[in-house]
Amino acid sequence: MTDLELLVDLHKASKRQGPGSTTETLKALNLIKDIIKKDQLRIADIGCGSGAPTIALAQNTTGKIYAIDLFSEFLDKLKINAERLGLEEKIETIQGSMEKLPFEPNEFDIIWSEGAIYIMGFEKGIKEWRNFIKPNGFLAVSELTWTTNSRPTEIEEHWKKEYPEIDTASNKIKLLEKNGYSPIGYFTLPESCWMDNYYKPTEDRFKNFLEKHNNSPAAKNIVALEKEEIRKYIKYKEYFNYGFYIAQKV
Ligand code: SAH
Repeated sequence: MTDLELLVDLHKASKRQGPGSTTETLKALNLIKDIIKKDQLRIADIGCGSGAPTIALAQNTTGKIYAIDLFSEFLDKLKINAERLGLEEKIETIQGSMEKLPFEPNEFDIIWSEGAIYIMGFEKGIKEWRNFIKPNGFLAVSELTWTTNSRPTEIEEHWKKEYPEIDTASNKIKLLEKNGYSPIGYFTLPESCWMDNYYKPTEDRFKNFLEKHNNSPAAKNIVALEKEEIRKYIKYKEYFNYGFYIAQKV
């Protein structure tokens, strides 16, 4: 197995593949609920993973959610969950890349993406995805964000290396404005979204994951990297977070 396959294997059993919660998904949705007057919405959920946000969207909107992810392992789980909840008519899964979306221009009322736009980079993502949003439609994305104006060197250097586009909310909002969006709202995730909903369930799987892969050096390395990320989150959580950005295409 490649490192990427091992990572998918570690995370596929999770309810979610990144920090978040249904409460925060609905909080973001609420910011636009008065503006969405249409009945049959078309929503794309990009980098949906096993679909924790997708399910929340399907249960709280009319119309259809097109859920796209690169990995079938996650989409298979989403399909099972959608069927279990009687939502299979409302959710269509698509295996594909966020960098080459198989959609038509102006197709969606809302483009949603939690914890995934960093994969292609925030600015490239908001630029390219804008083409698929209807005029006056919406974008809702969560994105790694500095929450203070300055921070300790260790965490600054770590994230600058891992994700050079990490920035403050004011700069992210400027990018939205520069690229044809009008900001509607911004908020950050509570700690429970990281610890209770993401890191702790991941930690609980380390032992089985290592056993399953016979303690291979590659599997051990993945666990070590995850542990280090968790350590940095606990130590430096006052300096960075996921910011949820909600904006309208203008
Ligand atoms: N939105 C989900 C998952 C976030 S994790 C949640 O909040 O739980 C990021 C997701 O992006 C993973 O499911 C990963 O498989 C997917 N991904 C990675 N590269 C991708 C690409 N190029 N195109 C589409 N999805 C991708």
